[in-house]
Amino acid sequence: MPRKPSNRIGEVYGELTVVRSSTRRTGSGNAYWWCLCNCGKQREVSSDLLSNKIRQKKNVIACKECSKKLSIESIHRHKHLEEMERRKKAAQKRIELIGQVPKHWLLLPLTDAHARELGRTLFFRGCKCLNGHISPYRINGGCLACSKEKAVVND
Ligand SMILES: [Zn+2]
Ligand SMILES: [Zn+2]
Repeated sequence: MPRKPSNRIGEVYGELTVVRSSTRRTGSGNAYWWCLCNCGKQREVSSDLLSNKIRQKKNVIACKECSKKLSIESIHRHKHLEEMERRKKAAQKRIELIGQVPKHWLLLPLTDAHARELGRTLFFRGCKCLNGHISPYRINGGCLACSKEKAVVND
């Protein structure tokens, strides 16, 4: 027996405001609602995906296009935070290595991405490679000591 949907018009979920009911039902009998996105587009969303309480990944909080945009942004944000964390760790490791490694290593970019950002080719994270070297790395190349290059900074 299909349940009579509770009235959710006016409820807000992220970018979406519920504007009218739909006659569509999910397989399990959940009602669909037409929602208006802040960008002006409408999206039909089943009521089980309209929730502010459970932070489920599948909760719908925007029209299809905006959802795509939002998820791309959140991936970028996540990647950015990871990179900042990586740099912080590298900086800490390098502080521990002061006096134990050539000074110019400590002036190299902190990570691969950092080196790319600065248009450099070498970076020094201060951690050991798989062969136990503490050495600068070349972007796309790996440990300088492993590749038996002289760890001379000429980039
Ligand atoms: Zn939208
Ligand atoms: Zn190595």
